[in-house]
Amino acid sequence: MGGSHVEYGIVCGDRVIAAETIAVKAASLAEVLPQLESGILALAAKSHLELREMVGVAVGICAIVDSGGTVLATNGKYDDAVGFNFPQWSESKFQLRCRAENDTRLALLGEQFAGAAQGFEDAVLVTLGTGIGGAVLLGGRLLQSRGHKAGGLAGHLGVDWNGRICSCGNRGCAEAEASTASLDAICRERQRFAGSGLAGMAGTIDFQKLFAAADAGDALAHEILEHCLGVWSSLTVSLIHAYDPEVIVFGGGVMRRQEAILPAIREHVERHAWAKKGSVKIVPSMLGSTAALLGAVPLLRGGA
Ligand SMILES: [Zn+2]
Repeated sequence: MGGSHVEYGIVCGDRVIAAETIAVKAASLAEVLPQLESGILALAAKSHLELREMVGVAVGICAIVDSGGTVLATNGKYDDAVGFNFPQWSESKFQLRCRAENDTRLALLGEQFAGAAQGFEDAVLVTLGTGIGGAVLLGGRLLQSRGHKAGGLAGHLGVDWNGRICSCGNRGCAEAEASTASLDAICRERQRFAGSGLAGMAGTIDFQKLFAAADAGDALAHEILEHCLGVWSSLTVSLIHAYDPEVIVFGGGVMRRQEAILPAIREHVERHAWAKKGSVKIVPSMLGSTAALLGAVPLLRGGA
């Protein structure tokens, strides 16, 4: 369950056998749950499956979720979900057991189960999108803390003590310095903005447009892109120093231009990380949005 759409599906083994997407307007449970309930029943019927043949329901939501499946905190999306318990909901609607997790954590479970982190026990997932998300798996298990935030705040690690103020309150977070949510403001704050090719896109600048402008030779777009690559690279080194992973998987919409992003990060890591050369794999997500669906299998197995 993300801020712009909800994807749901039926998973069998390591395959998604049916899936649908709901476009989200208000990003509230009031809007989404009724559609999800009828959608799940319709998908099961279409797949000629009875609910009682299912192992359970796994939910991933862009929120902080406790180990009992209750939403603890949100940040502007699904704000009506705070205090909501997914296992109780699933039990009452489908008579199926349920586990709920943060969506990025569920995606990392999926990548380890059947994607880019398969075969690794210590893995980090970074999503470069509207914001910057993170999740950490150590010894094959999702990192747990009593506050349920451990490993999840990759986007809020500082990369510049003197940087921009972030929505979280900190200064110079990676998310404030290089994410889609902050990109337009970052561009407009540059002195040369008015005379650049970006000025005509003010208010709507995203990474697709920034890459296109840089490709077309716009000097400011190129400079801002270099800044963002530096931020993501610095963040990657911090994540390596914090968690000592074998692999860091990069996902999210910005990764459509992975060929321009990952080599720069790899080169920076080789030069600056306190790690044996080549020991940390820097790889793109293999599963994309399907990762969270496939994460249902390990989550319900209880290995998480
Ligand atoms: Zn922050």
